[in-house]
Amino acid sequence: MPTSSSGVPRLLARAASGQTRRSLLVGFAASGLSACASNPLGGSVRASAQETPGPVASAEFREWVAGFRARALGRGISGATYDRVMAAVVPETSVYKSDKSQPEVQEPIWRYIGRRTGDYNVATGKKRIQEYAALWDRIEAKYGVDRYTLCALWGLESSFGDLVVSAKYMKPVLNCLAALAWGEPRRRSYWETELLNGLIIVDRGWAEPSEMIGSWAGAMGHTQWMPEVWLNMGVDFDGDGKINPFGRPDDALAGTARYMVERGHYRRGEAWGYEVTFGPGFDWSDADGKTQRTIAHWTAHGVRRIDGEAFPDPRSNARIWLPAGAKGPAFALLQNFWAVRSYNPSSKYALAICHLGDKIRGRGEFVRPWPTEEKPLTLVEAQELQERLTALGFDTGGADGRVGEKTQAAVQAWQKSVGFQPADGYPSDKVLERLRGG
Ligand code: CA
Repeated sequence: MPTSSSGVPRLLARAASGQTRRSLLVGFAASGLSACASNPLGGSVRASAQETPGPVASAEFREWVAGFRARALGRGISGATYDRVMAAVVPETSVYKSDKSQPEVQEPIWRYIGRRTGDYNVATGKKRIQEYAALWDRIEAKYGVDRYTLCALWGLESSFGDLVVSAKYMKPVLNCLAALAWGEPRRRSYWETELLNGLIIVDRGWAEPSEMIGSWAGAMGHTQWMPEVWLNMGVDFDGDGKINPFGRPDDALAGTARYMVERGHYRRGEAWGYEVTFGPGFDWSDADGKTQRTIAHWTAHGVRRIDGEAFPDPRSNARIWLPAGAKGPAFALLQNFWAVRSYNPSSKYALAICHLGDKIRGRGEFVRPWPTEEKPLTLVEAQELQERLTALGFDTGGADGRVGEKTQAAVQAWQKSVGFQPADGYPSDKVLERLRGG
């Protein structure tokens, strides 16, 4: 592919050298100019008082670097690597506000899925399947992970390695992780561990800090590996002696397949799941995306594949999920759906990947249409729904206006308790109306 062997590294080298050079030029020059800024995530952090001439490593940060050295040596990182890498690190303090943006309206799942499974991704995925036929053969032979699913994951994680698309969001990962380990009070030990993992990667000679460019949270390369994944799940599948998620996609895709097998318990030769339909009088209460029953149990209760085919193995376990409520498409989810979901714990993310994989394979849209006539709740309405449910004793996991799996479970539990039909867990405006009516 055009960007794999030459484009990506060049792009990364360019982006990185600018940052590093600027960092080195500024270096300690402005230390002492730092001021205490309010950390939007709740703590108090040190940040540069000046936006220009560029990022600054404050004296406080340098002290922290000196203090953290023993931890790094304790993890087996050489003093020489630590000193060389950390001397050039300038904490990327913009990370403290990176996860605060929130849309006004919860995006309906059909739009989320639609944006990720559109013509461009299907066509590009088909091209990548052809171009990398030999690589897919090797990965399938070794790990058994379906090439179309893996190709779709690649598409969603990095637009098939086309980092030009996301270049403006990318940052030197060690600068981000250092800032988080130093100044982010929440999950500090997680960030410390990931910073150490990043240093181990450099110590092993797999990559230089200038190549390690990624998201503010530290995800890198074709399939967006955190340092821990790179370190523990990575595979040198192109045999160049290094494990690297940039450049040729071999290591990234093989390591991601390994992840799905070892951490997600992916099963060779099985489907991720099926679109299903229900017989009359179906009891929705187990169709919560969580309750696991055998296929034989579900068929006895009227669940059928919507294409009319038989399920291959009645003994396998499945969960039934209605992502947009009883009016939209419904799915029987098998183990391989959860293997994909293990990579990024969001069911709509996993569904987007499985669906895109199927479309790259040549299948069409889901049979049942999405209920696009449903008006999605606004942020304020969703918060109200969550507050009302919480007040009634149904735990929504907070009232942040984001309708996640916990809120859907609370909606469904409430629906069952008041006899609301169908009890599908879908937070429609009718649910809110009924909650308002008491
Ligand atoms: Ca390699």
